[in-house]
Amino acid sequence: MDPVRNLLGKRLFTPGPVMMSAETLAIGAWQTPYFRNQSFSDILHSCEQALLALVNADEGSRVVFLTASGTAAMEATIMNLLSKDTPSVVINGGSFGQRFVDMCCRHAIPVTDAVVDRDDLTDGLCLASLPTADALLINAHETSVGHLYSIQSSGQYCIQRNMLHIVDAISAFVTDEVDMQKQYIDALILSSHKGLALPPGLAMVVLGPRAIERIQPTSNLYFDFQHYLKDGERGQTPFTPAVTIVLQLHARLQQLHQQGLLSAQHQAKELASYFRQQLPALGLSCYAQAMPNAMTAVQVSGTMRASDLVARLEHEFDCVVAPNGGNLKDSIFRVAHMGNMQLSDLTVLVDALAKIIGERA
Ligand SMILES: *Cc1c(COP(=O)(O)O)cnc(C)c1O
Repeated sequence: MDPVRNLLGKRLFTPGPVMMSAETLAIGAWQTPYFRNQSFSDILHSCEQALLALVNADEGSRVVFLTASGTAAMEATIMNLLSKDTPSVVINGGSFGQRFVDMCCRHAIPVTDAVVDRDDLTDGLCLASLPTADALLINAHETSVGHLYSIQSSGQYCIQRNMLHIVDAISAFVTDEVDMQKQYIDALILSSHKGLALPPGLAMVVLGPRAIERIQPTSNLYFDFQHYLKDGERGQTPFTPAVTIVLQLHARLQQLHQQGLLSAQHQAKELASYFRQQLPALGLSCYAQAMPNAMTAVQVSGTMRASDLVARLEHEFDCVVAPNGGNLKDSIFRVAHMGNMQLSDLTVLVDALAKIIGERA
């Protein structure tokens, strides 16, 4: 079979990419336009204003638009805001927390790796025992295990200690609450292909006033925030942006503005609750205690193997869920509730799971 055809036309329950709306898909079908002109500048300006409003950013906040995946935005934030003179703490409860730790190590930032295991995750964060530091880095939703942290608590901790609160909300924004003022977030990392339900390739860093003040000169040219902020004043980016995704973002932000973020969160919550209610009858359960609306990590028990379920769902039912790696490979898989998903998509998945699991009984 044609390898491209083999990838297309499946239902995606993966935590990125996620299913996109007809409007987003339609914009993607157009020829990419030229962008060094006023019309594109107006669109980028409007994206910045809309995003700042949706995340309730402080007066004076700005957005850096990077053409890159979310990981690049995480690393760019570290390169621009931290240095060997800014000891930092990473809340590490899975592979995305570990990614922050690895980045700090590469960039010679003194880092305390606050490893939280599954049991510690249960009642939020044990922040009291952390050392003094200049910044705290946290993934609002640790997507590798489907755990939602209390960003409100980490924000309060940071504000009391005058620490920079750097939050990767890539897999929380849209489906779960993200509010920069309420949660004292100084730098907020977002990307296009999770809750925003756009193609991968555009990442955004929303910088609050305290973060803007702390931007340091970086030896890196492509990711130099100063350059992005300066060009952003006239609605442009230093290098060719993901033009089409910016146009899709513009439409999506307008749609979210009309719908209201609370309603978008409610919609994801309804899908998540419905799905979670179906699990016990299938002999499955939820892996995480504190779960986001964005995703459910499903625990498989008995003689079933999560990796087999993942493979059969795709090959026999065209339902793509996310496998886990490492020692969780056979015990959990992940089902996202982000993007253009309907209850009817979830019933297809639940029916497929019932068939596979029923055959084994
Ligand atoms: C998806 C994701 C990222 C970014 O991953 P990329 O593969 O670089 O897009 C970062 N953090 C979290 C929490 C994520 O879920």
